[in-house]
Amino acid sequence: NQTKVIMEQEIHQARTLQVDLGERAYPITIGEGLLSNSTLLQSRVKGQRVVIVTNTVVAPLYLESLTQQLLQLGKQVEAIVLPDGEEYKNWESLMQVFDALLAKKCDRKTTLLALGGGVIGDMTGFAASAYMRGIPFVQIPTTLLAQVDSSVGGKTGINHPLGKNMIGAFYQPQAVIADISTLNTLPDRELSAGLAEVIKHGAIIDSGFFTWIENNIEKLRAKDMDALSYAVLRSCEIKANVVKQDEREGGLRAILNFGHTFGHAIESGLGYGNWLHGEAVGCGMVMAADLSYRLGYIDFVTKTRIVQLVEAAGLPTTAPDLGEQTWSELMEVDKKNEGGQIKFILLKPLGTSVITEVPKDMLLATLRACIQ
Ligand code: NAD
Ligand code: MG
Repeated sequence: NQTKVIMEQEIHQARTLQVDLGERAYPITIGEGLLSNSTLLQSRVKGQRVVIVTNTVVAPLYLESLTQQLLQLGKQVEAIVLPDGEEYKNWESLMQVFDALLAKKCDRKTTLLALGGGVIGDMTGFAASAYMRGIPFVQIPTTLLAQVDSSVGGKTGINHPLGKNMIGAFYQPQAVIADISTLNTLPDRELSAGLAEVIKHGAIIDSGFFTWIENNIEKLRAKDMDALSYAVLRSCEIKANVVKQDEREGGLRAILNFGHTFGHAIESGLGYGNWLHGEAVGCGMVMAADLSYRLGYIDFVTKTRIVQLVEAAGLPTTAPDLGEQTWSELMEVDKKNEGGQIKFILLKPLGTSVITEVPKDMLLATLRACIQ
C-alpha cells in the first residue's frame, strides 16, 4: 500500500501525491505556476466562500493574483493579513483570525486558505480546526520548509510564552498546493533552512535520495525549478509515508526529529530567532552524525558526507559554545520522551534511523568535537 504518485494529465506538469489517511486522506500537488492554474484551484478549493490567511510579506507578492483566480472561478474571496514573523504565531493573532471570521459572519462551510510559510500554515490550520469546531482548510505553502515539512502531516498550532508549538491540534487539510514558483522570491537563507529538512528526509529514510541531494545541491541552491520540484515531491512522499504509519506521533514519527534534539538546544540556547530553525537542524544533524559515528553506527566516510552536504546547503556545521553545563541542561529540556533519559535519533546506517539512549561520555565527546 505504497503512497502513490499520480501524473495528472489535465494539470500541466504538476504532480499529485495522495496522503493515505483513510477518511482524512488528501492530495498534495507540486509544480510550477500552480497559483495561476485555474483547473487545479477549481478542483482543490471546493467551497464557494474562501478566506485567505496570509501575512504582510507574502500578501504583496501573491495575494492579488490568487484572489483574482478564485474570483474568476466564481468564489467569494476575502483576506486576513497578519503581521509577519514567528513572534506573531500566538494567541493574539489567532484571535485576530477568529474576530475577522465572526465579523464577516463566516459559516461552517467557509474554507480557510493558508497562503504563506510554516507560521501562517500552522496558525491557519489551528484556526480552521477550532472555528465552529472545524471548517475546511487548504494549504498553499510558499517557503521550502513549509512545502517539504510543515504543510504535511496535520500538526497545527501556536506558541505559548512558556513553550514553542505548545497549543495546537492535529488537523488535516483538504488539499495542499505547493507552487514551486513561489520559491523564486524566497530569501536564500530561508531556502537553505528548508534544505535542512530535505537532507533530513534522505538521511533517515532514503540513502538514494541523500545521494541525489549531494549531486544536485548547487542546482537546488540556484533555484533550478526541476530540482526543487523533485526535492519537494520526494520529501513529501517520505514524510507522508511516516505520518501514514503514525499520524499522532506514538512512535515512528519521532524519527522526523533527527537533528532536532541538538537543534532545539541550539535554538533555545542562543535565543529563538538568532539561528533559523533549519540552521539549527543542519548543525544538529552534523552532531547526530558525529554521535552515530562514535557509536559505530556509520563509518567515517558517511559522517563526512553529512558534514559536507550540510555545509554545501549553506548551513552551519559547528555548534555554538553554550558551555557544557548549559548544553546538557538544554538537552534535558527536550525530553519528548518518557522515563527521564534523552532519546536520540541516530543513523544506523545512512538511510535508516534508530531511536536510542546514549552513554553520557559519548554525548560529551560529541559536544566537545562539534563546538567551535
Ligand atoms: P515563516 O513562515 O516565518 O517564513 C519565513 C519567512 O519567509 C517569513 O518572513 C515569511 O513571511 C517569508 N515568506 C514566506 N513565503 C515567501 C515567499 N514565497 N517569498 C518571500 N518571502 C516569503 O517560516 P517557515 O520556515 O516557513 O516555517 C517555520 C514555522 O513552521 C515554525 O513556526 C515551525 O514551528 C513550523 N513548523 C511546523 C511543522 C508542522 O509539522 N506543522 C513542521 C516544521 C515547522
Ligand atoms: Mg523541523
